Amino acid sequence: MSTTEHNHRQGIVVKKTLGKYTVRSAEGSSIGCALAGNLSKQLLFSTANPTSMRKRVLEVKELDTVDPVAVGDHVTYLLSEDGTGTITEVQPRQNKLSRPATDGGRQFKKKGPLEQVMVANVDQIVVVMPAANPPPSWDLLDRYLATAEASAVPALIGFTKADLLTADLSQEIEMYRQIGYHVIVTSAVSGLGVDKVKTALKDRVSVLWGKSGVGKTSLLNAIEPGLGLRVKAVNDHNSEGRHTTAHLEMFDLSFGGSVIDTPGQRAFKIWDNVEDFAHLLPEMRPFLGHCKFGLDCTHTREPGCAIKSAVTQGAVSQRRYDSFLGMRDYFTA
Ligand code: GDP
Ligand code: ZN
Repeated sequence: MSTTEHNHRQGIVVKKTLGKYTVRSAEGSSIGCALAGNLSKQLLFSTANPTSMRKRVLEVKELDTVDPVAVGDHVTYLLSEDGTGTITEVQPRQNKLSRPATDGGRQFKKKGPLEQVMVANVDQIVVVMPAANPPPSWDLLDRYLATAEASAVPALIGFTKADLLTADLSQEIEMYRQIGYHVIVTSAVSGLGVDKVKTALKDRVSVLWGKSGVGKTSLLNAIEPGLGLRVKAVNDHNSEGRHTTAHLEMFDLSFGGSVIDTPGQRAFKIWDNVEDFAHLLPEMRPFLGHCKFGLDCTHTREPGCAIKSAVTQGAVSQRRYDSFLGMRDYFTA
């Protein structure tokens, strides 16, 4: 088989299924690809690029990755005569959503869990949360948002099932808007908010987060007929509750943009080391460094804590502060 230069092409990984990848070429065709042997070796010991670290992330673990290629990666591949491809290079990522690999324990090594990059190069995370039936889980919402903050990916909150609302959520919604999050209230039944979601998704790569049953399928179907069912068919391959995402796929939207669903998502652990979770709550950031004990303050019992006084004065809500208190346990357990 000849491997001339012109057989090297650029594409985007749009699907991953147990070690097999589908790459979309610049011309829009889909190529089934495998990984070049040296690629997996080369990247097994890759270290994170220190220039991409936010200040709040003091250290990035230098660990092996489960898989050197993720959905959303921009790659170079070698096209064979039989129409299949071999991925030879992964372009530097703009961003990535990573978590410590947990399933099976097989990937654990002496140093700790491996990094599992789920998706790369995304424009936004859409957190899907029911407004009713069941009522919103605010702690979970705050953990999703914190995970998005840790990845430096903008998050949008999409409340579903608004037609079933019995309680008034306007105060909570207003609070999230004041923090700076885009909030859209939707109903797949009445069509409320569906156009706003379409506008928000248009021409962007969006990742959906939300537990099963929150109404993701219905919302996607409302956005584009049949889309929810296509996305769900992929998810049904993944066993829920074990954080498995053996199958991930990026779906194009007919009006521009694409969505990637990550199935059965509880909030997942943050990959990077987080020194102070208050960094992950945007409304707390202005107070950081102003505590009596400076950056050593844990914002729990210390006198002269700027964050606790912000809670007393109403600049930070008590509920978000309570979420913050739970995060250390949740994310570091
Ligand atoms: P998924 O598991 O997140 O994909 O959730 P589904 O879209 O399958 O929805 C779960 C359940 O909630 C189904 O019984 C849907 O009919 C119902 N549901 C979803 N969206 C809405 C909505 O906007 N209004 C109402 N009343 N029910 C909804
Ligand atoms: Zn403090």
